[in-house]
Amino acid sequence: MKVIFFSTHRFEKDFLLSANQGKHELSFTDTRLSSETVHLAKGYDSISVFVNDNASAPIINNLKSLGIQYIVLRSAGFNHVDYKRAKELNIRVARVPAYSPYAVAEHAITLMLTLNRNIIRAHSRIMDLNFSLDGLTGFDMRGKTVGIIGTGKIGSVIAEILAGFGCRLLAYDVVQNEELKNKIKVTYVSLETLCKEAEIISLHCPLNEATKYIICQGSIAWMKQGVMLINTSRGGLVKTKVVIEALKTGKVGYFGMDVYEEEEHLFFDDHSEEILLDETIARLLTFRNVLITGHQAFLTKEALKNIASTTINNLDRFQSKSDCPTEL
Ligand code: NAD
Repeated sequence: MKVIFFSTHRFEKDFLLSANQGKHELSFTDTRLSSETVHLAKGYDSISVFVNDNASAPIINNLKSLGIQYIVLRSAGFNHVDYKRAKELNIRVARVPAYSPYAVAEHAITLMLTLNRNIIRAHSRIMDLNFSLDGLTGFDMRGKTVGIIGTGKIGSVIAEILAGFGCRLLAYDVVQNEELKNKIKVTYVSLETLCKEAEIISLHCPLNEATKYIICQGSIAWMKQGVMLINTSRGGLVKTKVVIEALKTGKVGYFGMDVYEEEEHLFFDDHSEEILLDETIARLLTFRNVLITGHQAFLTKEALKNIASTTINNLDRFQSKSDCPTEL
C-alpha cells in the first residue's frame, strides 16, 4: 500500500523503515497535515499522522475526496483526529494504544525530581564555577502524598515507581484500576480530596470534553500552597494562564510540563532564530520553578521501535482487510 507520513521527524524514520522491511511504499514529509497541506495525500491509499497534525472533520472530508482509505496514528492520544467522521466516510483509523508507558511515566518522574532538587539551577551554577548550595534545598519524596489523575497504563506505572519511593498514593479516575490496587496501596478519592491532600499532582488522563481544563481556577483553589503540578498528558488539561497566576502567588510551587495547550505552534520545530510571540510561554520561561520539555516524554528507543512496529502492523491488517485490534 502507498502511504504518506505527515510530520515525520528524523528520530523516527529509521525505525519506520526497519519495521516496514519494504512491505509498503512509504513516503515521508516533515509537513504537518492541515487544510493547506492535505493535497499532498493525493495518489496515496493511506496517511500516517502524529500528535499535532490536524485531522478534523473538514480535513477528513478532503482526504476522502483524495481517495484515502486508511489513517494510521503514530500516537496513543487521538484528540486531534475526528475518527467518527472518518468512520462515517468508511475511512479506517488505527492508533498505537500502548508503546511504552514506562517512557512517559519515567519522564514525569524526571520532571518531578529535577524540579524538586533544582537540578537545572545547580548545573548552571556549576558551569559558572559557583559551588554554593544556597537556594537548592529540595524535599524527600518518601512520605509525600502524590495525586495521580488517570490510572491507566501510564498512571499505573508512575504509581508503582512512586510506591517504590515510599510516597502515599491517591488516585482519581472514572474507573478504578483493580490490578493496580492489588499490587500496591493506592486510595481512590474524589478530585477535590486529591487536590486538597496531594503535595504533588501528576496528570495521566486523556484530553476529552470531561477532562478539558481539569486544572483550572476551581481545582487549583482546592490545592495545597506550594503544590507541584506535572503534566505529561495533554496541554488542554491545564488552563495555563491560571497556573501562571498561581505561580505568581506561590500557590503552585513547581510546574513541570511536557505538553502545552498551544503546542502545535511551537513544539517539534526549531524556532531559535525567531522572536518568541507566545506570551504564555514567554512568561513561563521567567519562573525558576517551571520546567518545560517539548512533548518528549515518549521519546525512548523502545517506544519508537514499538510505535513503528504497531504502525506497520496496522497497515498490514488494513491491507489484508483483517480486523485491527487498535482500530478506533
Ligand atoms: P490509558 O487509556 O491507559 O489511561 C487513561 C486513564 O484515564 C484511564 O484509566 C481512564 O479511565 C482515565 N480517565 C478517562 N477519563 C477520565 C476522567 N474524566 N477523569 C479521570 N480519569 C479519566 O492511557 P495512557 O496510555 O495511560 O495515556 C494517558 C495519556 O497520556 C494519553 O491520553 C495521552 O494524552 C498522554 N500521552 C502523552 C505522551 C507524551 O509523550 N507526553 C505519550 C503518550 C501518551
